[in-house]
Amino acid sequence: MLQRNLPGSSSSTLNPYFCTMHLVQTFVTTKLPVMEAFYTIQGEGFHQGRAAYFIRLAGCNVNCFWCDVKESWDADKHPKMSIDDIVQQACAEPARLAVITGGEPLMYNLDELTYQLQSEGFETNIETSGSFPLSGSWNWICVSPKKFKPPTAEALHNANELKVVIYNKNDFTWAESHANQVNESCKLYLQPEWEKAPVIIPSIIDYIKQHPKWELSLQIHKYINVP
Ligand code: SF4
Repeated sequence: MLQRNLPGSSSSTLNPYFCTMHLVQTFVTTKLPVMEAFYTIQGEGFHQGRAAYFIRLAGCNVNCFWCDVKESWDADKHPKMSIDDIVQQACAEPARLAVITGGEPLMYNLDELTYQLQSEGFETNIETSGSFPLSGSWNWICVSPKKFKPPTAEALHNANELKVVIYNKNDFTWAESHANQVNESCKLYLQPEWEKAPVIIPSIIDYIKQHPKWELSLQIHKYINVP
């Protein structure tokens, strides 16, 4: 961790009261556990089809039984990379859309990572369960709520996109309970759980036709066989 002096602050004469009330200084995370980082096509949700650099942070305690990245759960099994190196590698690709995913990326303070990415001209998007406090500066927040660790009111209020994974028909009611908590401009997506997709997609299509505020999100990266 290091300390960054925010714009307009003095580096040497810190008034403790002023610090507390105005957050003149903040601690900055310098390393993050990275399971993988790769350049691909965003396969889901509002930004589907765009070239994007994915940064998958390791660590998650949400415990979804259908999770398709269980190898991300234990952060200790993955190397900690400096944020400088993470951003430098992202800059090697031509797209300037970064998607921070996991694991559960908000287990970490993401202020410094997003600060550096945006300084390099990246749009910063996050995919999160919303179950940890928000940090970072985001161009797009996708909250995908999980039953096993519910999202915070803060995450739902700030979501640009609510993406609900549908495992069975009971999940439509659960999806609506979250749609009632997001802001008016939030995009609403229903996405079939991958293993259940052949069975549940017809029900999702019927539901969207009856409730057109929702749209269909498919994991097209799995259909076109890219990461
Ligand atoms: S929140 Fe995401 S990474 Fe964590 S268990 Fe659920 S699906 Fe897996």
